[in-house]
Amino acid sequence: MRYSRYFIPTVKETPSDAEVVSHQLMLRAGMIRKLAAGIYNYLPLGLRSIRKFENIVREEMNRAEAIEMLMPGVQPAELWQESGRWTFYGKELLRFKDRKDAEFCMGPTHEEVITDMVRREIKSYRQMPVNFYQIQTKFRDEIRPRFGLMRGREFIMKDAYSFDVDSSAADSSYDRMYQAYMRIFTRCGLNFRAVEADTGSIGGSSSHEFMVLAESGEDAIVSCNACSYAANVEKAESAQLPVGTETGLLQLQEIATPEMKTIADVAAFLGVATETTVKTLVYAHENGEIVMALVRGDHELNEIKLKNHLGWDDIQMASEEQIRSCTGSPIGFLGPCDLKQKIKVIADNVLKNMVNVVIGANQKDLHFTNANCGRDFTVDIFTDIRSVVAGDPCPRCADGKLEMWRGIEVGHVFKLGTKYSKALSATYLDPDGKEQVIFMGCYGIGIGRTVAAAIEQNHDENGIIFPIPIAPFHCSLVAINNTKDAVVMAASEDICKQLENVGIEVLFDDRDERPGVKFKDNDLIGIPLRLVVGSKSLAEGKVELKIRATGEVHTLSISDAVSMIQQLVKGALERD
Ligand code: ATP
Ligand code: MG
Repeated sequence: MRYSRYFIPTVKETPSDAEVVSHQLMLRAGMIRKLAAGIYNYLPLGLRSIRKFENIVREEMNRAEAIEMLMPGVQPAELWQESGRWTFYGKELLRFKDRKDAEFCMGPTHEEVITDMVRREIKSYRQMPVNFYQIQTKFRDEIRPRFGLMRGREFIMKDAYSFDVDSSAADSSYDRMYQAYMRIFTRCGLNFRAVEADTGSIGGSSSHEFMVLAESGEDAIVSCNACSYAANVEKAESAQLPVGTETGLLQLQEIATPEMKTIADVAAFLGVATETTVKTLVYAHENGEIVMALVRGDHELNEIKLKNHLGWDDIQMASEEQIRSCTGSPIGFLGPCDLKQKIKVIADNVLKNMVNVVIGANQKDLHFTNANCGRDFTVDIFTDIRSVVAGDPCPRCADGKLEMWRGIEVGHVFKLGTKYSKALSATYLDPDGKEQVIFMGCYGIGIGRTVAAAIEQNHDENGIIFPIPIAPFHCSLVAINNTKDAVVMAASEDICKQLENVGIEVLFDDRDERPGVKFKDNDLIGIPLRLVVGSKSLAEGKVELKIRATGEVHTLSISDAVSMIQQLVKGALERD
């Protein structure tokens, strides 16, 4: 491809509305342009990377015997009403009416559509297992579209849906997709982790997220430093913390803590560690139900764990009014002692081993010290409701400690069980002619998000450093002074042909620009290999090959350069 005939509108300045590096670089490299919030044009260079990644995904899906198809973006409301999600999905579902007043939505995902197709076409156990996938545009009216392709409103997703005769067959389909995902992200050269994920309101079944490790990631994940345990913090557990030195129960004391509304204030005032304090939080359901939750002072309550424990579909901090009505206390001095009204008190497991704690006294400017569960207050249930922290003991192995990372969720695999097949009556006849409900799994990969995540992980101050498998071109060929130097131009054209003949994708920078401009642009757009053809070295039969990622420079004969490029590309694209 000749740069001069191509379209790469690079930009020098960092766009002010782009917060993360990948968004900045994709704009600066002329890969994408914003049309509206969360809606982008994929310019030629961006599209090339997207297509490269799609092809890797497609190859691995096909290898795992998933079958490609394509479903529509516009979906009728009836299907969503049948699954119950027309009301449940909320505002991310963009709804509209056609000229006949029939209701539709833009598909944010395709469980309903595929289950409808399958219930019509799959009638017998003989037709399963089967797994359908597509690479298609989704629309989600995200509340905060941001970070470019990372969280768009319109975005490309690969989604696959497996259909099996029973739960154990569905587990095999799930494992197959899990392995395919491992291969996909490995092939892209990404540093990633597969982590256990929360299954939310669907419950029971299992789920893994594939996280590209990056500081800018929106998710917090943990992994064990000794075994393979890894989980999203939303879900991560820890082994029981070691018990402190035993002391007898001391006498409850009331302490004045004027204006000290935070745990840190109170602990500092009393000269104790926050680990000896207990934090009290009050949560409410939309329907008005209220619960009190207790966690150790230095721990964070995990709302997702609490919500799952309660089986609630929604959770929010209780209002000041709600808090006053059940505790009688202003915020900042809450505690489980002397409640005005009986509410359920849920304490984190860690509190089981704590004695003589500092806790709010349910009165303005007052705390208790030496409060003890059972004697001074009642806990209805002990369960895991805190977020783990770095250094917590691993829940799976004896000596491991948890380490924390930030990650970008690029893929998600999920055992759905019979949630959708039941709701939509997707059944089949078993060998005995008996009607049975189909077991499903669903498997998503964010195509644009993965390309953005790859950039987030692979860049330097000069721009993008694409891993070869998803680079828009393998190699750039920078011809120095080519518009004035016919020898350089002819040699460059010849080298370009030689490279293309051996399957290398070359971006031939034949522009009438100074070398500095060409080098800058080629660094910015992240082409992994750069071959420079200049008159001086050419006179000695040499060209210069630079590896973008390491900065290594090799001065080589033309034929050596061609074979080295060929080797490097082949090595990067190799798979077993
Ligand atoms: P998130 O928690 O980031 O909103 P999600 O759990 O809603 O993601 P899924 O419904 O599992 O995402 O979608 C499958 C994949 O699609 C995700 O793993 C992610 O890679 C991608 N994806 C989801 N939402 C977006 C978005 N708004 N923009 C780009 N990619 C997205
Ligand atoms: Mg989402």
